[in-house]
Amino acid sequence: MKTKTVIVIGAGIGGLTAATHLAKQGLHVTVFEKNARPGGRCDRLSRDGHHFDTGPTLLVMPLLYEAEFTALGASFREMLNLQRVDPTYHLVFDDGSGLALTSDMKFLQEQLEAIEPGSFQGLLRYMDEGHRHYHLATEKLVYPDFRVASDFFKLSHLPLLYQVKPLAKHYANMSTYFDDPRLKAAFTFQDVYMGLSPFEAPATFSMMPYTELAHGVWYPKGGMYQVVEALMSLAQEAGVEFQFNASVEQVDVNGRSARGIILDGQRLEADAVLANADLPYVYQNLLPQDGQAKKLDRKRYSCSVVSFFWGLDKPFEMLPPHTLFLADDYRENFTSIIRDLDLPANPSLYIHAPARLDPSMAPQGQDTLIGIVPVGHMSENGEQDWGAIRDQAREHVFRRLRTLGINDLKQHIKFEVNFTPLSWRKRYNLVKGSTHGLCHNLTQLGYFRPDFQHPRYRNLYFTGASTRPGTGMPTAMVSGRLASRRILDTLARGK
Ligand SMILES: Cc1cc2nc3c(=O)[nH]c(=O)nc-3n(C[C@H](O)[C@H](O)[C@H](O)COP(=O)(O)OP(=O)(O)OC[C@H]3O[C@@H](n4cnc5c(N)ncnc54)[C@H](O)[C@@H]3O)c2cc1C
Repeated sequence: MKTKTVIVIGAGIGGLTAATHLAKQGLHVTVFEKNARPGGRCDRLSRDGHHFDTGPTLLVMPLLYEAEFTALGASFREMLNLQRVDPTYHLVFDDGSGLALTSDMKFLQEQLEAIEPGSFQGLLRYMDEGHRHYHLATEKLVYPDFRVASDFFKLSHLPLLYQVKPLAKHYANMSTYFDDPRLKAAFTFQDVYMGLSPFEAPATFSMMPYTELAHGVWYPKGGMYQVVEALMSLAQEAGVEFQFNASVEQVDVNGRSARGIILDGQRLEADAVLANADLPYVYQNLLPQDGQAKKLDRKRYSCSVVSFFWGLDKPFEMLPPHTLFLADDYRENFTSIIRDLDLPANPSLYIHAPARLDPSMAPQGQDTLIGIVPVGHMSENGEQDWGAIRDQAREHVFRRLRTLGINDLKQHIKFEVNFTPLSWRKRYNLVKGSTHGLCHNLTQLGYFRPDFQHPRYRNLYFTGASTRPGTGMPTAMVSGRLASRRILDTLARGK
């Protein structure tokens, strides 16, 4: 019997994972990637001995990675040289006070009690809730493949309405546990990973601070790109073929099916096409316009970020691996980013110093720093001046670092590379430069997120952050596995 063929558009985490599963089942799989290397948003940059992870910097939800590597027949712990980052983050508040989020419960208790007496008990109760949310949400919302509406809307799911609090707002729910706004911020800022404001995110997302404290935040020696290297070696071992610098121009469709793709004006045929490129981009740019792209355009998109990558001629040892400056005007920050698509007046921001975890990330006696400032995504009318916003964001980073006594960062910059939403769009074809794709509000979660299978072209599939289950590296691996299973089942039925 003729071997079935699959074309994958994009070598992001979802694409690599799906391609490997499909090849392992005997399909002939070719991945076409527009960039020169795999990984998509999980990308890297090296210059003069300085190494930067330009996308993800936090390896969170390790149990998901473990399960997904096992599903690929590999061991996550053996393939990656992992170290636990503890404290995970050093939080710095506007009043100069700090909080190190650590799994050392005694130290955490001392710090919390100093901020708000009695709050440690609140944390323990919050972790209890986070534990419940994590396990129920991964089991019932992240792992399942909702093929038909009744897979999602079923009686046994009804208890989830109170078990994982999807209808409560995350920030409002914090009043059950803490009074001090600094603590409410310390255990909700993780919602930004979903591109969401804690003032609108479902309280379900308490699962994120829970998993960070309980299962840890990790760092692979050599940086996050090591995850891509590991997935690439599994893909190549399984026989997946790759073409880089290959920007797919069109999905070639006919009636109710996809025949293949158009690349450099040539038609390439396949039994199935799997798009890992951002789903709204595929609808807008690679498919015939039938109104679906416009519908998707009206959906909510996650925020974006301005990122700075600095090679420095001296080490800034006082900076721990992950520092988060959390602004007092926490609510205003999210309103500015999400409603006004702007840069907040006093933005919360994040600094990553990878050389604290792996000295080889910077030349000896020097340093490598990444600054990330969340901003709104690109607006329809294109009125945002990204050059000016980037320059303001940079000044905010310098200002915040001065509060830690770092007054001379600017003078020690050997080079800077920066990304704005325009860069995210150009580099990875992310619609609106939105770093996390379609956002994860209640009406865009679970079954409500776009499906793995195109509703009209039944052999066209999707995987990645804007489809199910949603953003994040381990979730992209889940997405790749579920999409590959859908393809295998459909091909097996001869459809
Ligand atoms: C700044 C930032 C920080 C993040 N931090 C974290 C973190 O700390 N931890 C975490 O777990 N997650 C984090 N994420 C999220 C995580 O990176 C993503 O959710 C995940 O990598 C998305 O994978 P994906 O499968 O959707 O593929 P993508 O990364 O979207 O890759 C899709 C690929 O398709 C390619 N492509 C697009 N169009 C075409 C075309 N026409 N032809 C050929 N190829 C095409 C693109 O070049 C790209 O390589 C972060 C993301 C960003 C941007």
